[in-house]
Amino acid sequence: MVNLEDLQNEIEGLKLEIEALRKEVKEVQPHKHCLNCGIAIPPDKDFCSKKCEDEWNRAVKRKKQITYIWLLFIGILLLILLISGGFGGK
Ligand SMILES: [Zn+2]
Repeated sequence: MVNLEDLQNEIEGLKLEIEALRKEVKEVQPHKHCLNCGIAIPPDKDFCSKKCEDEWNRAVKRKKQITYIWLLFIGILLLILLISGGFGGK
């Protein structure tokens, strides 16, 4: 048989827990996450350290390079198609 008093105590405990959680959520400072490693940082920064910034910039640069290489590759491919008569070869 369920003891009603125990249940009420438990509910009270849960209420307190929820209240504590609510407080915690409210007290979390506004913050951002480092773009490179993802740890919490002040909202006026983008990276947690110079090292992360450098790493990120390098990664972005490489990504750009890969994009350019792909565009070049596709351009050359189109050119080859055009030259080999893919379009004007009638
Ligand atoms: Zn970082």
